[in-house]
Amino acid sequence: MKQNNNENAANRLSYVGHVYGLGEQRIKEETLESLPHEWSRLHKEGYIHIHDLDAYGLTYNCLTFDIDNLDLSGITDPTEQGRIIGLFSFLKLMIEEYGNEQSGGMAFANFDNDIDAMLNRLSVADNESNNAILRSCIRAFILFCNDNHTRMGLVSYYVTLNIGLANTNRARFIAKSAIEEFESLGDMVYKPNIVFKVHDGVNRKEGDPNFDILGKALLCTAKKMIPTYLLCDCEQDRQADPNRLSVMGCRTRVVDDLYGQKGAIGRGNIDNISINLPRLALEIDRDYWESSFEEKMETMKKRWTDVAEQVKDILIDRYKKVIGQSLDDFPTNRRFNLWGTRFDNADSLEEIFKHGTLSIGFIGLSEAIEVLSGKKYYADPATLLSSLGLVSYMRQYCDFLRRETKLNFSLLATSGELISGRFTEIDAKEFSPKTDIFSKGYYTNSFHVDVDSGLPARKKIQIEGLFHPFCNGGSITYVELGEAPLGNDEGLLELVEEAIASNVHYLGFNFPKDVCDDCKASGVFDECPCCGSKNITRIRRVSGYLEILDGFTRGKKAEEKNRRRNG
Ligand SMILES: [Zn+2]
Repeated sequence: MKQNNNENAANRLSYVGHVYGLGEQRIKEETLESLPHEWSRLHKEGYIHIHDLDAYGLTYNCLTFDIDNLDLSGITDPTEQGRIIGLFSFLKLMIEEYGNEQSGGMAFANFDNDIDAMLNRLSVADNESNNAILRSCIRAFILFCNDNHTRMGLVSYYVTLNIGLANTNRARFIAKSAIEEFESLGDMVYKPNIVFKVHDGVNRKEGDPNFDILGKALLCTAKKMIPTYLLCDCEQDRQADPNRLSVMGCRTRVVDDLYGQKGAIGRGNIDNISINLPRLALEIDRDYWESSFEEKMETMKKRWTDVAEQVKDILIDRYKKVIGQSLDDFPTNRRFNLWGTRFDNADSLEEIFKHGTLSIGFIGLSEAIEVLSGKKYYADPATLLSSLGLVSYMRQYCDFLRRETKLNFSLLATSGELISGRFTEIDAKEFSPKTDIFSKGYYTNSFHVDVDSGLPARKKIQIEGLFHPFCNGGSITYVELGEAPLGNDEGLLELVEEAIASNVHYLGFNFPKDVCDDCKASGVFDECPCCGSKNITRIRRVSGYLEILDGFTRGKKAEEKNRRRNG
């Protein structure tokens, strides 16, 4: 069986996966054919990428669970220990069902407090013997997220556990156990995604009640790249209740809601489309080659708006098709009720999904500016300011759409799982710019500086931090390290603080991780330094989730190869 060109990186093959892949391809083609010609042209010609085309009009993208809505009355084991086990079996079932009813990820906004609250509802006491069972259930749950590939017959579930704001002893125990078990399971266990929420007065400074848990998290990150860090004290998140903040592993951020209170709980992204910025720049450079950089940037905004207007129409069309379905088309949601508005209380899907976000994404700011100016956007303050002006403009347009359409439009700094390679391939056939942006084989993630910039980590954080407040649909900054910063929690904490001061909303640390298949040694090598084996598994993060390198799409592999550490 041939590997399908799946948009998500976690490809596995099975009979059902094979059938699913063929069906997925067919539905994508049919959907494209059914759309107005101009819309499908924009997608096919690589101006835009309509994500998860197979789900068009059928379902939404992702969801952060509203755990309070969960009915636990089916968990009836007479013993407390039995109810702990019952709860985790129930959660696994829930994840499997959701994984097949929506196209993207799912998240617990506060896995530590959520589990504690559910155990309280089940009258499970916080004592040593119960906690021993709880800990093994957490371990088994992590293994389930890592090892289960039954989603759509071929891939694992995109599960994110946000932790860190634990406010009871047992919740603290849950947060610690999640980190310790994840760490102790070794390098080949690299799921679920764990996000640590950093917040002043809770865990950020010495003396804060959960400061020790942050320390554990940082040491685990130094080994395994997980957790990543949601920085609740950055300017754009400060007005929201940190308990209601949450991110998906892919970086999706859901905060402002035209119809309710700020925060991600019980909400998700409905659909998103990414715009290929380098394409627009290449056309402008070709057609207006005599213009100044400033003039070209003004044309860029106009061209972008032309495309964004179409993107808006596609996003709304898709949203309307989704809410045009029946509540009965979402049996899992009917059963578990994890959106903020309960399915069994709603008269229409619109009542529920109007709380979701519609995101306009962008990719390749770096290449676009390089084409227009001949320089990297971060080469000098003037170019950097113009680049910020463009991203600010895109955000203003999304805010304008919120007012006009009364829908939660947001600007997403796209990770570009598949699209960066697809866009480059199409553009390279048509354009020959003065600066070489094609030979590396991919476009740079959202507003990121080039992965081979070699900029010092602090500098990278400061530059990218300028862009985070504009990207209300989600963004991440990665610090690229040459190797695992084993034991250096203090060094990582300094970078976390730098990121908070720079208004980075979500921060991750990347380093190459090679694992010997024979003796399990890990490091950075082509041949195992311990046993000499050449059977090596390479684990990397490219688009939010850790994966084995073989699963990456072409453009992403090229990006990984070009990474240079931020010294
Ligand atoms: Zn070895």
